[in-house]
Amino acid sequence: MIGGSMVSDEKNTIENVIILGTGPAGLSAGLYAARADLAPLIFTGTQIGGQAALTDRIENYPGFPDGVGGNELADLFQKNAEKFGARLEYDTVTKVDLSSRPFKIKTYSNEFNAQTLIITTGASPNKLGIPGEEEFLGKGVSYCATCDGWFFKDKAVVVVGGGDSALEEGIFLTRYATTVKIIHRRDELRGSKILQERAFNNPKIEFIWNSVAKEIKGNEGVQSIMLENVKTGESSEIQADGFFVFIGHTPNTQIFQSQLDFDAKGYIQVNRNYHTSVPGVFAAGEVCDPVYRQVITSAGMGAAAAIEATRLLPNY
Ligand code: NAP
Repeated sequence: MIGGSMVSDEKNTIENVIILGTGPAGLSAGLYAARADLAPLIFTGTQIGGQAALTDRIENYPGFPDGVGGNELADLFQKNAEKFGARLEYDTVTKVDLSSRPFKIKTYSNEFNAQTLIITTGASPNKLGIPGEEEFLGKGVSYCATCDGWFFKDKAVVVVGGGDSALEEGIFLTRYATTVKIIHRRDELRGSKILQERAFNNPKIEFIWNSVAKEIKGNEGVQSIMLENVKTGESSEIQADGFFVFIGHTPNTQIFQSQLDFDAKGYIQVNRNYHTSVPGVFAAGEVCDPVYRQVITSAGMGAAAAIEATRLLPNY
């Protein structure tokens, strides 16, 4: 059957479009593919809404002049896609075979076939790789202020990084923490001017410049951080109950290794139609975007990828 939601043969159902990921790119691709009557199947992975859902407040997505909660926006994206027939599958994809069409997609519990695939698996926070980081994960070490900030009410926290994430999350943490010390390896921030101004004007925030964290010390939980000044080589120890790391991201591409082309930084290579090196496989959002990384750009890429996938399918 062609022209309805999917194609079937005796043995297998072949989905028109399978989408991996439910961040802004995945749910926007889902909305567009659903409105093209393709009944896309979307695998959620572990985090519905992607990183956007972990953001406390989004102030730069058009249409929300007063800002919108990250979780709330993700929820609206999901409702919008489902309203037109997108189907969410609460499962994680463990393996894909892109060597021939239909593509094979394996999850923990099942196997699926797809005519076209849209990869929107996003990116994960980078780790520092210093002693104590693994040991105190969930016991003071965190990569998400929105998720864990509440645990640091009336406590002292340290934030590492000098980009928008470190500033935004550092400002957010001042709701709970008594002090937020932002450790940056240079003496100039990478983050946007508006966030820099907000951070500089926040009485709870202090910057420690030209410094890197060398070790996280503690007992049951984090107690102190060993720092090194990269200019003078001087070491120091500061007391902290929480340690938040915001030093960029790595794209989630493990299951596609050796099946697609990647750029030098490991992001999936796409052409201007969001087509990857394998015909029928598209990518959108942070898994292929080391530059813009905004909710609106990811959503736009997802929509474009779905339009392109639709054009590839017969009878659409
Ligand atoms: P980012 O812009 O890449 O910044 C990472 C920061 O971590 C940089 O300051 C970098 O230092 C530092 N860093 C990297 N590796 C380090 C290491 N091993 N040790 C110590 N410091 C290290 O990442 P991001 O802040 O996550 O932002 C990513 C993108 O998302 C950006 O395009 C940003 O604009 C966007 N974003 C936007 C918003 C918003 O619009 N509200 C919010 C969050 C993120 P150097 O500066 O020395 O390289």
